[in-house]
Amino acid sequence: MKLDYSATGWPRVVIGVIAGTMFCSGVALFVASFRFDQMSEARFRYSIMVNTLLPMVLAAPLLFLLLTKMRQLAIAHREISLIASTDSLTTVLNRGAFKMLVDTCLKQATRHPAHDDGAFLVIDADHFKSINDQFGHQKGDVALKIIAQTIQDALRQGDIVGRIGGEEFGVFLPGTGLEQALVVAERIRLQINEADFPPDTGSHTLSVSVGGAAFGRNADYDDLFRVADRCLYSAKSGGRNQVIFERLVA
Ligand code: GH3
Ligand code: MG
Ligand code: MG
Repeated sequence: MKLDYSATGWPRVVIGVIAGTMFCSGVALFVASFRFDQMSEARFRYSIMVNTLLPMVLAAPLLFLLLTKMRQLAIAHREISLIASTDSLTTVLNRGAFKMLVDTCLKQATRHPAHDDGAFLVIDADHFKSINDQFGHQKGDVALKIIAQTIQDALRQGDIVGRIGGEEFGVFLPGTGLEQALVVAERIRLQINEADFPPDTGSHTLSVSVGGAAFGRNADYDDLFRVADRCLYSAKSGGRNQVIFERLVA
Protein backbone atom coordinates (compact mmCIF):
# COMPACT_ATOMS: atom_id res chain seq x y z
CA MET A 1 0.00 0.00 0.00
CA LYS A 2 1.32 3.41 -0.98
CA LEU A 3 1.10 6.08 1.73
CA ASP A 4 -0.16 9.53 0.84
CA TYR A 5 2.26 12.06 2.35
CA SER A 6 0.58 15.04 0.70
CA ALA A 7 -1.18 17.80 2.65
CA THR A 8 -4.49 15.95 2.19
CA GLY A 9 -3.33 12.64 3.70
CA TRP A 10 -3.39 11.29 7.27
CA PRO A 11 0.30 10.20 7.34
CA ARG A 12 1.36 13.85 7.39
CA VAL A 13 -0.92 14.48 10.39
CA VAL A 14 0.46 11.49 12.31
CA ILE A 15 4.09 12.33 11.51
CA GLY A 16 3.45 15.99 12.41
CA VAL A 17 1.94 15.09 15.77
CA ILE A 18 4.78 12.68 16.68
CA ALA A 19 7.57 14.99 15.49
CA GLY A 20 5.97 18.11 17.04
CA THR A 21 5.42 16.40 20.38
CA MET A 22 8.97 15.05 20.46
CA PHE A 23 10.26 18.52 19.64
CA CYS A 24 8.24 20.09 22.50
CA SER A 25 9.47 17.43 24.96
CA GLY A 26 13.02 17.94 23.72
CA VAL A 27 12.86 21.70 24.23
CA ALA A 28 11.33 21.28 27.72
CA LEU A 29 14.05 18.77 28.69
CA PHE A 30 16.77 20.99 27.27
CA VAL A 31 15.60 23.99 29.33
CA ALA A 32 15.24 21.83 32.45
CA SER A 33 18.72 20.34 31.92
CA PHE A 34 20.34 23.63 32.98
CA ARG A 35 19.29 22.79 36.57
CA PHE A 36 19.91 19.03 36.52
CA ASP A 37 23.23 19.33 38.40
CA GLN A 38 21.47 21.11 41.30
CA MET A 39 18.78 18.44 41.67
CA SER A 40 18.53 15.44 43.94
CA GLU A 41 18.07 12.01 42.33
CA ALA A 42 14.31 12.00 43.06
CA ARG A 43 13.81 15.52 41.78
CA PHE A 44 15.86 14.73 38.63
CA ARG A 45 13.59 11.78 37.85
CA TYR A 46 10.52 13.87 38.55
CA SER A 47 11.80 16.64 36.23
CA ILE A 48 12.47 14.14 33.42
CA MET A 49 8.99 12.68 33.78
CA VAL A 50 7.19 16.04 33.89
CA ASN A 51 9.13 17.54 30.99
CA THR A 52 8.52 14.47 28.86
CA LEU A 53 4.90 13.77 29.69
CA LEU A 54 3.49 17.30 30.03
CA PRO A 55 4.31 18.32 26.43
CA MET A 56 2.84 14.99 25.31
CA VAL A 57 -0.41 15.62 27.13
CA LEU A 58 -0.67 19.26 26.01
CA ALA A 59 1.06 19.43 22.63
CA ALA A 60 -0.14 16.17 21.09
CA PRO A 61 -3.91 16.96 21.14
CA LEU A 62 -3.31 20.58 20.10
CA LEU A 63 -1.05 19.54 17.23
CA PHE A 64 -3.55 16.87 16.22
CA LEU A 65 -6.34 19.46 16.14
CA LEU A 66 -4.23 21.96 14.19
CA LEU A 67 -2.92 19.44 11.63
CA THR A 68 -6.38 17.90 11.13
CA LYS A 69 -7.79 21.37 10.38
CA MET A 70 -4.90 22.03 7.98
CA ARG A 71 -5.66 18.72 6.24
CA GLN A 72 -9.34 19.68 5.90
CA LEU A 73 -8.28 23.05 4.44
CA ALA A 74 -5.99 21.31 1.93
CA ILE A 75 -8.85 19.02 0.86
CA ALA A 76 -11.23 21.99 0.47
CA HIS A 77 -8.57 23.87 -1.52
CA ARG A 78 -8.06 20.90 -3.83
CA GLU A 79 -11.82 20.56 -4.40
CA ILE A 80 -12.26 24.28 -5.07
CA SER A 81 -9.34 24.27 -7.54
CA LEU A 82 -10.88 21.26 -9.28
CA ILE A 83 -14.30 22.91 -9.54
CA ALA A 84 -12.72 26.15 -10.76
CA SER A 85 -10.81 24.40 -13.53
CA THR A 86 -13.38 21.81 -14.63
CA ASP A 87 -16.31 22.11 -17.00
CA SER A 88 -19.24 20.90 -14.92
CA LEU A 89 -21.11 19.22 -17.81
CA THR A 90 -18.33 17.23 -19.44
CA THR A 91 -15.74 17.16 -16.57
CA VAL A 92 -12.91 18.05 -18.95
CA LEU A 93 -10.96 21.27 -18.30
CA ASN A 94 -12.78 24.53 -18.84
CA ARG A 95 -11.51 27.07 -21.33
CA GLY A 96 -9.40 29.12 -18.88
CA ALA A 97 -7.71 26.10 -17.27
CA PHE A 98 -7.08 24.50 -20.68
CA LYS A 99 -5.39 27.61 -22.04
CA MET A 100 -3.32 28.05 -18.89
CA LEU A 101 -2.10 24.44 -18.95
CA VAL A 102 -1.31 24.50 -22.69
CA ASP A 103 0.57 27.80 -22.24
CA THR A 104 2.62 26.25 -19.44
CA CYS A 105 3.44 23.20 -21.60
CA LEU A 106 4.47 25.39 -24.51
CA LYS A 107 6.79 27.45 -22.27
CA GLN A 108 8.37 24.28 -20.87
CA ALA A 109 8.85 22.96 -24.40
CA THR A 110 10.70 26.14 -25.35
CA ARG A 111 13.10 25.52 -22.45
CA HIS A 112 13.64 21.88 -23.47
CA PRO A 113 14.11 22.01 -27.26
CA ALA A 114 14.39 18.20 -27.54
CA HIS A 115 10.68 17.91 -26.66
CA ASP A 116 9.25 20.94 -28.39
CA ASP A 117 7.03 19.44 -31.07
CA GLY A 118 3.35 18.68 -30.67
CA ALA A 119 -0.09 19.23 -32.08
CA PHE A 120 -3.21 21.18 -31.26
CA LEU A 121 -6.73 20.17 -32.31
CA VAL A 122 -9.98 22.09 -32.35
CA ILE A 123 -12.92 19.67 -32.46
CA ASP A 124 -16.37 21.05 -33.22
CA ALA A 125 -19.61 19.05 -33.17
CA ASP A 126 -21.37 19.11 -36.55
CA HIS A 127 -24.88 20.54 -36.87
CA PHE A 128 -25.25 20.59 -33.13
CA LYS A 129 -28.05 23.09 -33.24
CA SER A 130 -30.16 20.59 -35.15
CA ILE A 131 -29.39 17.91 -32.51
CA ASN A 132 -30.84 20.21 -29.87
CA ASP A 133 -33.80 20.97 -32.13
CA GLN A 134 -34.44 17.30 -32.87
CA PHE A 135 -33.80 15.68 -29.47
CA GLY A 136 -34.07 18.54 -27.00
CA HIS A 137 -31.43 20.42 -25.04
CA GLN A 138 -31.06 17.71 -22.38
CA LYS A 139 -30.19 15.04 -24.94
CA GLY A 140 -27.90 17.62 -26.53
CA ASP A 141 -26.07 17.75 -23.20
CA VAL A 142 -25.80 13.96 -23.26
CA ALA A 143 -24.28 14.16 -26.75
CA LEU A 144 -21.68 16.64 -25.48
CA LYS A 145 -20.78 14.28 -22.64
CA ILE A 146 -20.40 11.39 -25.10
CA ILE A 147 -18.17 13.49 -27.36
CA ALA A 148 -15.99 14.61 -24.43
CA GLN A 149 -15.67 11.06 -23.10
CA THR A 150 -14.82 9.69 -26.53
CA ILE A 151 -12.10 12.31 -26.96
CA GLN A 152 -10.66 11.51 -23.53
CA ASP A 153 -10.68 7.77 -24.20
CA ALA A 154 -8.70 8.27 -27.41
CA LEU A 155 -5.89 10.22 -25.73
CA ARG A 156 -2.72 9.27 -23.86
CA GLN A 157 -1.74 10.34 -20.39
CA GLY A 158 -0.20 13.79 -20.63
CA ASP A 159 -2.47 14.93 -23.46
CA ILE A 160 -4.74 17.80 -22.47
CA VAL A 161 -8.41 18.23 -23.34
CA GLY A 162 -10.71 21.16 -22.59
CA ARG A 163 -14.11 22.48 -23.53
CA ILE A 164 -13.27 25.76 -25.22
CA GLY A 165 -16.74 26.64 -26.50
CA GLY A 166 -20.34 25.43 -26.33
CA GLU A 167 -19.87 22.40 -28.62
CA GLU A 168 -16.18 22.88 -29.25
CA PHE A 169 -13.24 21.08 -27.64
CA GLY A 170 -9.51 21.76 -27.67
CA VAL A 171 -6.89 19.00 -27.51
CA PHE A 172 -3.17 19.47 -26.95
CA LEU A 173 -0.87 16.59 -27.85
CA PRO A 174 2.63 17.35 -26.55
CA GLY A 175 5.46 15.49 -28.25
CA THR A 176 3.19 14.20 -31.04
CA GLY A 177 4.24 14.78 -34.64
CA LEU A 178 1.92 15.55 -37.56
CA GLU A 179 1.45 11.94 -38.76
CA GLN A 180 0.68 10.60 -35.31
CA ALA A 181 -1.63 13.55 -34.51
CA LEU A 182 -3.55 12.83 -37.73
CA VAL A 183 -4.04 9.24 -36.57
CA VAL A 184 -5.33 10.45 -33.18
CA ALA A 185 -7.69 12.99 -34.77
CA GLU A 186 -9.06 10.38 -37.20
CA ARG A 187 -9.55 7.93 -34.34
CA ILE A 188 -11.52 10.54 -32.38
CA ARG A 189 -13.65 11.37 -35.42
CA LEU A 190 -14.44 7.72 -36.21
CA GLN A 191 -15.18 6.78 -32.61
CA ILE A 192 -17.61 9.67 -32.32
CA ASN A 193 -19.32 8.43 -35.52
CA GLU A 194 -19.65 5.04 -33.86
CA ALA A 195 -20.95 6.26 -30.50
CA ASP A 196 -24.50 5.32 -29.47
CA PHE A 197 -26.70 8.40 -29.59
CA PRO A 198 -29.31 8.76 -28.25
CA PRO A 199 -28.04 6.09 -25.82
CA ASP A 200 -31.37 4.20 -25.81
CA THR A 201 -31.80 3.85 -29.60
CA GLY A 202 -28.48 4.83 -31.21
CA SER A 203 -30.54 6.16 -34.12
CA HIS A 204 -28.43 9.24 -34.80
CA THR A 205 -24.84 9.40 -36.01
CA LEU A 206 -22.84 12.05 -34.18
CA SER A 207 -20.04 13.67 -36.09
CA VAL A 208 -17.32 16.23 -35.54
CA SER A 209 -15.04 18.29 -37.71
CA VAL A 210 -11.44 18.63 -36.63
CA GLY A 211 -8.93 21.36 -37.39
CA GLY A 212 -5.35 20.64 -36.41
CA ALA A 213 -2.07 22.51 -36.15
CA ALA A 214 1.22 20.65 -35.85
CA PHE A 215 4.14 22.66 -34.53
CA GLY A 216 7.87 22.33 -34.37
CA ARG A 217 9.18 24.88 -31.93
CA ASN A 218 8.43 28.19 -30.21
CA ALA A 219 4.69 27.88 -30.76
CA ASP A 220 2.25 30.10 -28.99
CA TYR A 221 -1.36 29.32 -28.00
CA ASP A 222 -2.94 32.05 -30.11
CA ASP A 223 -1.03 31.01 -33.23
CA LEU A 224 -1.92 27.36 -32.74
CA PHE A 225 -5.56 28.21 -32.19
CA ARG A 226 -5.66 30.49 -35.24
CA VAL A 227 -4.20 27.82 -37.54
CA ALA A 228 -6.33 24.99 -36.11
CA ASP A 229 -9.45 27.13 -36.33
CA ARG A 230 -8.67 27.97 -39.97
CA CYS A 231 -8.40 24.23 -40.69
CA LEU A 232 -11.65 23.64 -38.82
CA TYR A 233 -13.33 26.20 -41.05
CA SER A 234 -12.02 24.32 -44.12
CA ALA A 235 -13.28 21.02 -42.68
CA LYS A 236 -16.72 22.55 -42.17
CA SER A 237 -16.90 24.07 -45.61
CA GLY A 238 -15.52 20.85 -47.13
CA GLY A 239 -18.57 18.90 -45.96
CA ARG A 240 -17.92 18.32 -42.19
CA ASN A 241 -17.10 14.99 -40.46
CA GLN A 242 -13.44 15.29 -41.52
CA VAL A 243 -9.98 16.23 -40.28
CA ILE A 244 -7.81 18.94 -41.81
CA PHE A 245 -4.29 19.69 -40.61
CA GLU A 246 -1.69 22.33 -41.25
CA ARG A 247 1.88 22.58 -40.06
CA LEU A 248 2.59 25.78 -38.19
CA VAL A 249 5.58 27.59 -39.61
CA ALA A 250 7.75 29.03 -36.83
P1 GH3 B 1 -21.69 23.53 -37.41
O1 GH3 B 1 -21.67 22.17 -37.98
O2 GH3 B 1 -21.45 24.57 -38.44
O3 GH3 B 1 -20.72 23.66 -36.28
O4 GH3 B 1 -23.14 23.78 -36.85
P2 GH3 B 1 -23.61 23.89 -35.36
O5 GH3 B 1 -25.10 23.81 -35.36
O6 GH3 B 1 -22.90 22.89 -34.53
O7 GH3 B 1 -23.05 25.30 -34.94
P3 GH3 B 1 -23.78 26.53 -34.33
O8 GH3 B 1 -22.66 27.42 -33.86
O9 GH3 B 1 -24.74 27.14 -35.30
O10 GH3 B 1 -24.57 26.00 -33.11
C1 GH3 B 1 -23.96 25.52 -31.96
C2 GH3 B 1 -25.06 24.97 -31.09
O11 GH3 B 1 -24.52 24.36 -29.92
C3 GH3 B 1 -25.99 26.06 -30.62
C4 GH3 B 1 -26.07 25.89 -29.14
O12 GH3 B 1 -27.38 25.92 -28.67
C5 GH3 B 1 -25.48 24.53 -28.91
N1 GH3 B 1 -24.87 24.45 -27.60
C6 GH3 B 1 -23.84 25.18 -27.12
N2 GH3 B 1 -23.57 24.83 -25.83
C7 GH3 B 1 -24.44 23.87 -25.50
C8 GH3 B 1 -24.68 23.10 -24.31
O13 GH3 B 1 -24.00 23.26 -23.29
N3 GH3 B 1 -25.67 22.19 -24.33
C9 GH3 B 1 -26.43 21.99 -25.44
N4 GH3 B 1 -27.39 21.08 -25.38
N5 GH3 B 1 -26.25 22.70 -26.57
C10 GH3 B 1 -25.27 23.61 -26.61
MG1 MG C 1 -20.75 22.99 -34.33
MG1 MG D 1 -18.86 25.81 -32.71
